[in-house]
Amino acid sequence: MNFELSDEQKDIKNAAKEFALGEFPDRAQEFDRGEEFDLTIWKKACELGFVGVNISEAYGGPGLGQFERCLIDEEFWAVDAGIGTAILSTVFGSELIERFGSEEQKQRCLPPLVKGEAIMGTAITEPDAGSDVSSAITTAVRDGDEYVINGSKMFTTNGTIANFLLLFCLTDPDNPDRHQRHSILMVETDRPGFEARKLRGKLGIRASDTAELSLDNVKVPVSNLIGEKEGEGFKQVMFQFNMSRTHVCAQAVGIARAALEEAVAHIKNRRQFGSPLSSFQINQFKIAEMATKIRAARNLYYEAAIAIDNGTIDRGLIAMAKWFCGEVAVRCADEALQMHGGYGYIDEYKIQRIYRDAKIVEIYEGTKEIEKIIVARSLLR
Ligand SMILES: Cc1cc2nc3c(=O)[nH]c(=O)nc-3n(C[C@H](O)[C@H](O)[C@H](O)COP(=O)(O)OP(=O)(O)OC[C@H]3O[C@@H](n4cnc5c(N)ncnc54)[C@H](O)[C@@H]3O)c2cc1C
Repeated sequence: MNFELSDEQKDIKNAAKEFALGEFPDRAQEFDRGEEFDLTIWKKACELGFVGVNISEAYGGPGLGQFERCLIDEEFWAVDAGIGTAILSTVFGSELIERFGSEEQKQRCLPPLVKGEAIMGTAITEPDAGSDVSSAITTAVRDGDEYVINGSKMFTTNGTIANFLLLFCLTDPDNPDRHQRHSILMVETDRPGFEARKLRGKLGIRASDTAELSLDNVKVPVSNLIGEKEGEGFKQVMFQFNMSRTHVCAQAVGIARAALEEAVAHIKNRRQFGSPLSSFQINQFKIAEMATKIRAARNLYYEAAIAIDNGTIDRGLIAMAKWFCGEVAVRCADEALQMHGGYGYIDEYKIQRIYRDAKIVEIYEGTKEIEKIIVARSLLR
């Protein structure tokens, strides 16, 4: 497989890097400490064309591939993970709408995401349904031309700021096939009975909004069902995971790069025992291992993303990449902080935030354990 970037891809990568370096560093610590984000940066990112790059031209986007989207994720996360997530998660679930939504839903929902006029999210996880997606119990009961939704969702990215969410709901609880019991409904967040409570105190990516949702007799029209019939929700979510897991791989490589950069700068400057820390072979080995793992991780996610764009969704390969890239990110952040000694423990130093931010890539969009289960299944089937 050829990993050489085209001129257009190089331009996208460079532009994303330039934007992130211009906008993120001055505000990153403020957003991390305050657990807030300034949406004017998201608006600017939309104006410059970084948001919704996968959305087709027919719906206002440039119709680029998952690979190009990943290039942007990597560059944003290499500068700041929290801001990167806050910006790029505003279209979380848009692939699902484009793939399975009705023409009316696509026309209504997708163009505002690209223009910076709307934010969306996807709410699957519940208090008692995390890795086991199909145990979700938020119900959607058909009543004439409407669905009535009751239940709660946990850890919804953009829950308090989204204009609409894709909600994974139980529509056929008695279906013998647990993978046909759910459907996805689009829920506008200004509907009566919808409430979102911001979750504070996250370990990392604190610029990004995360919320707990409560749905109390929320009514949506039947036309808000995604897909032509009920029972397709699990399949639709699995499709979305293949896209978003690939984005998380790119996030992981971006933050691993940031960790390496911080480590290299620190060990070249800091002197102990009369010499720079970079003169000690143990530190040289650490940065050599980090750089090698980052490159291997990048090659793995490039392969997965390019395969998607060439028409092959290889679930096992994507899971391999998600697990491996995640582990590389967390290990690199840990080693980089270790090389900072006590300074790394203080939030004046960027490496502390990198260390905290990195952990999420081993958790969301499928934990590393779930990814390994998927890899093993792909080998054992
Ligand atoms: C910041 C943040 C943002 C998020 N954004 C979203 C969002 O936008 N939308 C959304 O729907 N969700 C979101 N999530 C939820 C996230 O996807 C879940 O936290 C994740 O899927 C794990 O589910 P859980 O937390 O319930 O953990 P659990 O499923 O309870 O897992 C706990 C531990 O047990 C392990 N485990 C579980 N089952 C098995 C098994 N069969 N074999 C071996 N080990 C197992 C897991 O790997 C994990 O280590 C977000 C979470 C966070 C923290």
